[in-house]
Amino acid sequence: MPSSGATQAPLLRFALQDGRRATLLLGEASTVLSIDDALVSSWDLAGRPYALVRETGTYRRGLDGRLLWKRESSAHGPRQRRRLSAAEGEPTVEAARLDAEAALRACRSEGGTPLVIPRDSGWTGPEESAVSAPAPADPSSPGPDGAPRGDIAEAVRRLHAIVALDTAALREDAARFLAASGPVGILPPDQYLSLVVRVTEGCSWNACTFCSLYRDVPFRWKRPDELDAHLAALCAYFGPSIALRRSIFLGDANALCLAHDRLLPLVERVAARFPGVPMFSFVDAWTGQRRTPAEWSVYAGLGLRRVYVGLESGDPGLLAWLEKPGSPRDAVDLVGALHDAGVAAGVIVLLGAGGERFARDHTARTAETLTAMRLRPDDFVYFSEYVDDPALAYGRRAAGEPDLQPLPPARNAELRREIRAALRPADPARPPRTATYDIREFVY
Ligand code: SF4
Repeated sequence: MPSSGATQAPLLRFALQDGRRATLLLGEASTVLSIDDALVSSWDLAGRPYALVRETGTYRRGLDGRLLWKRESSAHGPRQRRRLSAAEGEPTVEAARLDAEAALRACRSEGGTPLVIPRDSGWTGPEESAVSAPAPADPSSPGPDGAPRGDIAEAVRRLHAIVALDTAALREDAARFLAASGPVGILPPDQYLSLVVRVTEGCSWNACTFCSLYRDVPFRWKRPDELDAHLAALCAYFGPSIALRRSIFLGDANALCLAHDRLLPLVERVAARFPGVPMFSFVDAWTGQRRTPAEWSVYAGLGLRRVYVGLESGDPGLLAWLEKPGSPRDAVDLVGALHDAGVAAGVIVLLGAGGERFARDHTARTAETLTAMRLRPDDFVYFSEYVDDPALAYGRRAAGEPDLQPLPPARNAELRREIRAALRPADPARPPRTATYDIREFVY
């Protein structure tokens, strides 16, 4: 987990042997190599790549080895995205590793002109500013160019770790992750860099017609000894790279649905392992509203900061048609209990499901429900577009019914605007934050 220190991360500037200009940022939780201000590669402190910016777009690599490729919308077309298998992504990932190898050669002065330029000197080009800066024996003294020798040694150490993770090693690493964690189904967008601790697995309901996230994961909770083993496995897997993880997310779909006497010992174990680290989790309204404010206060005391609630809609008719249990009133009561305990809420609204048949009631009732929640500036309202999938029960239900077909993006944007316009927060001057929750963009 990152420290709260605000020291500036060392930045080394140098030229690769082929003449390309490079900068290497030695961050507290990551290493970022930029080449010619065009290729940007980020690795965690174990040397695993997690974000690669290329001319073709941006690649996010998950710990299971799969990638998400994205290209922003432009004059030439709309935003694009595609999931890549680990094998499909390997050439891109390997190219980044080879860039790191080139940077390592430059930093170690192997067989060419070593160019390491301190951050405050500004880039003056390889011909004018070439200096010799081999990795030093004494990291506390400055190098011949003024760059701290410790930074150069640290750069060499990190680049070594990156270069060591070639294609075969990354395949093994992905298998190690899955052995320690198992698959992570989904996270709220602000939690993609959390450490997911799977207190439970799967979803206790697992039958909403619009969702298949946990269809193949039987619901279960971990015994305390199993959770201890899971925590130990996660710590062993992440090692120093845990610095990139900013919070704990208690997985999977509704860990907080467990009865208090079953849940409390589990959350206490997590808090003891990561003291002071903020915790987050999902819960559904119909299970969450059973918990008292006093019980929520206990979890707040252990570090619980925000709970994400799948409201989906404030229209009971649409919820019933989607086979989502519970009522909007349950969600309002749950958010009230969370607020009483000092825990923020992240309320997720589904857009597009139910088609035009439900659109008007969905919009009006959802705005009413969100208003009744008296949302505050530390709360979130997430808008999540229904992603159609022929395998879902939704499609079979809506077959042959034109007014139940999922709404297109432009219509969803209208509904979102209408809900936002009608929503009255607790303090109009300090409304909750609103954001997009696109399950197609999830990477862990
Ligand atoms: S939407 Fe939530 S409650 Fe419904 S099946 Fe999916 S994970 Fe479970």
